[in-house]
Amino acid sequence: MARYIGPSCRMCRREGMKLFLKGSRCMTEKCAFERRGYPPGVHGQGSQRRSKATNYSIQLREKQKVKRVYGLLEAQFRGFFKKASKSKGITGEILLQMLERRLDNTVFRAGFAESRNEARQLVRHGHFLVNGKRVNVPSFLIKEGDLIEIKDKSRENLRIKDAITNLGNKVIPSWLGVEGENYRARVTGLPAREEISLPISEQLIVELYSK
Ligand code: SF4
Repeated sequence: MARYIGPSCRMCRREGMKLFLKGSRCMTEKCAFERRGYPPGVHGQGSQRRSKATNYSIQLREKQKVKRVYGLLEAQFRGFFKKASKSKGITGEILLQMLERRLDNTVFRAGFAESRNEARQLVRHGHFLVNGKRVNVPSFLIKEGDLIEIKDKSRENLRIKDAITNLGNKVIPSWLGVEGENYRARVTGLPAREEISLPISEQLIVELYSK
């Protein structure tokens, strides 16, 4: 599946906020947004004075932020939105919940990877089992009761080892029961909106796609 392969930090600078796409580096002084918190490009520093934001541009930026956080291209994101809008409930919340339920995001939330990008790569390389079966599709949607395990052979993978060692420093959401010592995590519920700590207004995305 296609994905954006350009520089991650550029996206934070474009959105005017830290999107935390690079794991622990985002917390250090090496963070590009901390050093150059203005938009990228030759007119970057001056562009903050550019045209006034319209409703459309605000809605568009909100969508872009979510796409970038979860590492999706337009077509993939639109597919999620379509599914969310056909489900019962508040479309914006269901959309975020579905994005959170992606296997790559779940692996990241469980603390088995430094960032969503890394989690996506680890999933693609087949390091995880879901309910005993190898799943290497990052967009696979987990459901309540699922058991995600790191494969025996993959426990020596350096990135996974590091992640397991650092589990104690991570904030694990309440819908995941993580047993680092057993290299597994149980999905004990579904992600609630309050636990999705994205500083975005999903309603703006719904309005954008409803035009
Ligand atoms: Fe964004 Fe992280 Fe890069 Fe900082 S280090 S600009 S938060 S991706």
